[in-house]
Amino acid sequence: MLDLKLAGGTVLDGTGAPARRADVGVRGDRIESVGDLAQERAGRTLDVTGLTVTPGFIDIHSHSDWRLWGNRRAESKIRQGVTTEVVGNCGFSPAPVSDEFRGEMRGFALYVPEGMDFSWSSTRDYLRHYEDEGVALNVVQLIGHGTLRLAAMGFARRPPTAREQATMERLMDESMADGAAGLATGLIYAPGSYAATDEIVGIARRAGGPRYGFYASHIRGEGATLLDAVREAIQVGREAGLPVQVSHIKAAGRPHWGRVKDALALVDAARGEGLDVRADVYPYTASSTSLRTLMPDWVLEGGIEAMLGRLTDPASRARIRTEISGGAGILSRGIGWEDVMIANAPARPDAQGRRVSEIAAARGQDPLDAAFDLLVNEAGRGSVILFQLDEADFRRALAHPQVMIGSDGSSLAVEGVMGAGKPHPRNYGTFPRVLGHYARDEKLISLPEAVRKMTGLPADRLGLADRGVLRAGARADVVAFDAARIIDRATYEEPHRYAAGVSHVLVNGRVVVEGGEHTGALPGRVLSPS
Ligand SMILES: [Zn+2]
Repeated sequence: MLDLKLAGGTVLDGTGAPARRADVGVRGDRIESVGDLAQERAGRTLDVTGLTVTPGFIDIHSHSDWRLWGNRRAESKIRQGVTTEVVGNCGFSPAPVSDEFRGEMRGFALYVPEGMDFSWSSTRDYLRHYEDEGVALNVVQLIGHGTLRLAAMGFARRPPTAREQATMERLMDESMADGAAGLATGLIYAPGSYAATDEIVGIARRAGGPRYGFYASHIRGEGATLLDAVREAIQVGREAGLPVQVSHIKAAGRPHWGRVKDALALVDAARGEGLDVRADVYPYTASSTSLRTLMPDWVLEGGIEAMLGRLTDPASRARIRTEISGGAGILSRGIGWEDVMIANAPARPDAQGRRVSEIAAARGQDPLDAAFDLLVNEAGRGSVILFQLDEADFRRALAHPQVMIGSDGSSLAVEGVMGAGKPHPRNYGTFPRVLGHYARDEKLISLPEAVRKMTGLPADRLGLADRGVLRAGARADVVAFDAARIIDRATYEEPHRYAAGVSHVLVNGRVVVEGGEHTGALPGRVLSPS
């Protein structure tokens, strides 16, 4: 007898194959059978007539490390149909931590939930909290290169000594043994930006090979230096011998629009060479990042306190002003302060949701000074949304067969502290937006292909042989949604809105969303390549 039966739905199995009429039977945490199960008895039956039944969505690029701590129900993601989040991206994971630089870790995190005290050292000790406290969806942990660098050498802006390099490599090695799935860099963010390629190759070697990890990279430049940055990511894969995931592929800034095509050509060429290189993308034309990333990276040398000192020092301010407007500075990309919206600034809630140009005008200030003041006010935290991407670039990326979907967002919730500020709508809308807007309404890709980009393709990247596909024997991560109705509802102005159209979500065979409502179940696990 089955534990659970989803009866009467249309199945898209995650391979890109066309839809077919089939029931889905679940026993324990596995799919027992797919087909006509009218004669099968089940403990419970969910009537999914008229709904599309697929494998649970895998968010290949998430930043939920910090939010899941206080949002174990993973509200904004699970309600999109996400059953696995890949965290630790863009160079920053909460573990491992060294005794020497524990304070630096604390100061570095953009958002530190209550109770997150960085008291752990190893990745294993950190990951244990998911099992101890429970979590609604599965978690795949990448190890941030910035985290490794902080643990080995703090915010030093120089190449590592041989000993520091060895420390980073050892921590990578241990983290893989502790259940991590690979290495993630954030090469526009200090301290990751202080690293040369050979440093990264040395660490990446410990993630790949027999450890089966992969290399995810927020590459060194997404504007003028985009193509060199993609080449560098590929070089790491080639030299360290591991798969490469180019994170949130994009061309930032008007002068660079159209270059995603060239970046994808580099991906194709690398694949032609036999390298396993892929990319992910989110379905929006605005990006989001920390407020401090707008500053040149030397500003962060020595850590947050040193940065705050520089921001209040007139000579340093003048130097930042010059650099930010020229060369590789943010304002050289054909975007202005009117394209920069403050997303999160708890100390200045009135600034949230407003453009920096607007905030400055209201205060009779120069926009740069307004941005500096906000950053100081937030003690170096705070985040922004940058309207700097091209819709045509996104469409090209989405249509590419090796590009999967990653939100670059976190699990938030419409209530409580998770509902604060004006965060990027991708936290709530990424997957339904691809399915509803781009596949169904715009017909940019087919629905089976859209589902493959959020299930089979990322599962293959992660080496999760029994997930991302709906077949007998696979783990029962399952979504049932209304293909005619699924859509994102979050906007830049009103981001805290759950998506519509997802009816039921199963994680490891347990029902976490039923009839669009969260059941409170926390059946998620930490997953490693199998
Ligand atoms: Zn990133």
